[in-house]
Amino acid sequence: EFIKESMLKVDDEMSIESPEISKAKSELETLHEDRRTLPIYAHRDSLLKAIEEHQVLVIVGETGSGKTTQIPQYLHEAGYTKRGKVACTQPRRVAAMSVAARVSQEMDVKLGHEVGYSIRFEDCTSEKTVLKYMTDGKLLRELLGEPDLASYSVIMVDEAHERAVSTDVLFGLLKDIARFRKDIKILISSATPDASKFSDFFDCAPIYRIPGRRYPVEIQYTKAPVADYLDAAIVTVLQVHLTQSPGDILVFLTGQEEIESAEEILKHKINGFVSEIPELVICKIFSNLPTELQAKIFQPIPIGSRKVVLATNIAEASLTIDGINYVIDPGLCKMESYNPRTGMESLQVTSISKASAAQRAGRSGRTGPGKCFRLYTADSYKTKLDDNTPPGIQRTNLTSVVLSLKSLGIQNLLNFDFMDPPSNESLLKALELLFALGALNKVGEVTKVGRQMAEFPLDPMLSKMIVASDKYRCSDEVISIAAMLSVGNSIFYHPKDEQVHADHARMSFHTGNVGDHIALMNVYNSWRETNYSTQWCYENYVQVRSMRSARDIRDQLEGLLERVEIELTGCPNDLQAIKKAITSGFFSHSARLQNYGSYRTVKHPRIVHIHPSSGLADNFPRWVVYQEVVLTTKEYMRNVTELKPEWLVEIAPHYYQMKDVEDA
Ligand code: ADP
Ligand code: MG
Repeated sequence: EFIKESMLKVDDEMSIESPEISKAKSELETLHEDRRTLPIYAHRDSLLKAIEEHQVLVIVGETGSGKTTQIPQYLHEAGYTKRGKVACTQPRRVAAMSVAARVSQEMDVKLGHEVGYSIRFEDCTSEKTVLKYMTDGKLLRELLGEPDLASYSVIMVDEAHERAVSTDVLFGLLKDIARFRKDIKILISSATPDASKFSDFFDCAPIYRIPGRRYPVEIQYTKAPVADYLDAAIVTVLQVHLTQSPGDILVFLTGQEEIESAEEILKHKINGFVSEIPELVICKIFSNLPTELQAKIFQPIPIGSRKVVLATNIAEASLTIDGINYVIDPGLCKMESYNPRTGMESLQVTSISKASAAQRAGRSGRTGPGKCFRLYTADSYKTKLDDNTPPGIQRTNLTSVVLSLKSLGIQNLLNFDFMDPPSNESLLKALELLFALGALNKVGEVTKVGRQMAEFPLDPMLSKMIVASDKYRCSDEVISIAAMLSVGNSIFYHPKDEQVHADHARMSFHTGNVGDHIALMNVYNSWRETNYSTQWCYENYVQVRSMRSARDIRDQLEGLLERVEIELTGCPNDLQAIKKAITSGFFSHSARLQNYGSYRTVKHPRIVHIHPSSGLADNFPRWVVYQEVVLTTKEYMRNVTELKPEWLVEIAPHYYQMKDVEDA
């Protein structure tokens, strides 16, 4: 036995080692060749010259021309990193991670050493890091600690055309920094040809255009509107696979759930084919996809097979996948919208803009002639699609942005240099809420509570919940709840064929109708009691990966508590104290029971319902606070906790009066 085993081992090592080394070499060589074939490569020197000559430069180049991966490397090669780090900001977390991974490979360094990334709750950088890919939100947070960005020599604001909220806020702040730091370089890079707006904003900064290589794209529309776009998308994938010449397929869907169900249906259909068909490799990409699965979209597939990538908007411009010849575009995406009058935000599936549709189609014509199947009619393209998507700042809740700007010492927000200003109404709404939360005083200055809140990279309502937990002596429980909420909707595992068991397991954390927040705390505490056992997660239908990230986030929140001088105190059995801390953050999201199990929000009345996934769904408490409203078939409140109406007046006297909460 023993001899056999050790022989096997030697054999194994031998067969692995030698080819690996030669493979590694040629892989690096290929990477270097790839770099030289990118459209941007021919312009390397003239681009560097333009950067040298101008403090602010707008760079325009088609998706895939090499802006994100190459420009920071060129800057490094040209010596900019000797003077300070080069930051490259991305609106999306996944893009920051994935691009950093790619660049570290191209530079043949370990990710997190010379090349790293930094996103909320995850910092993969070190002392050595000179090229730092980060979300624009993360750079905003860094600004709070380093208002002149002294440790950076170049800031490249990438994907500027997306007009994400944090990108727009960065524009205003960077414009100011550039005035007093003559040595800093600001690069604004965009994938849309119309860059005059960026140039105008930065005092007529020059525009550098990277000529793209573009092949013709044939666009096909449906003859009649499709009834079920998901179904239509799947049918189109199969048609392309069975009838069209080689080339990979990219399908734009709206979110994780949709992508996962498309994946399942596709697999099922392919298995059902009687005759042999070429292999179809299904890959997916969306923002919550675990890191280790993200790289799969870039991996080569067996010869003779075809790849289909099921993606959200993320593949529209932030990530370039090589080899795509066919794009399937249902014309939809999930978009945040915000109504400043009611304070209601929602994530809704909406039609994309013509600009987005053009971007999507363009993904098929990068390496050869492409085809784009639009699952809508030519007529609805003309009449139903807007030219451009409105900038994020005009359709989101600004509470968090306003608190950051106030913390940076910007007093008068109505005068802040926004490229496209948000409505006064939504600024005022944000100020009003921050005042009610105690983050601002009557004259609009940041209070001690506000400064504490600003330390947490969370929505101000969540940060307030944490800061308030000090008063109720339950910070230990409340940071667990905040961490669990930050992980999102992926705590419970819900396999289709084990629904009864899964539901049973989930409801056990709700014993006593404690509400969703406390149920999340119960999950966390039970797991902690088992010393973070994986087995326990399996047995309780809890996703171990989500729990690990909750634990990681919780550790960071614990560190921040210390920084804002809040003691870690626990009162696991005083549920009322915990609920009061929750209410201190979420009082503006309160609702009271109506007839027939519907609820009415207290301020700005509106009819909402308890989400079926809530532990309180069949319980109908009279008064509740909720974390958010999501719109599916109805407007649903997610993460709901019962409260006593008098707490609202006690906790938020500037926001509620007795008459608001008296039982009618
Ligand atoms: P741009 O920013 O102009 O859209 P990029 O620099 O992102 O262009 O892309 C240049 C090339 O790098 C593309 O061919 C793309 O496929 C490749 N690439 C980018 N990220 C990755 C990654 N994570 N893995 C493999 N290839 C990548
Ligand atoms: Mg890019």
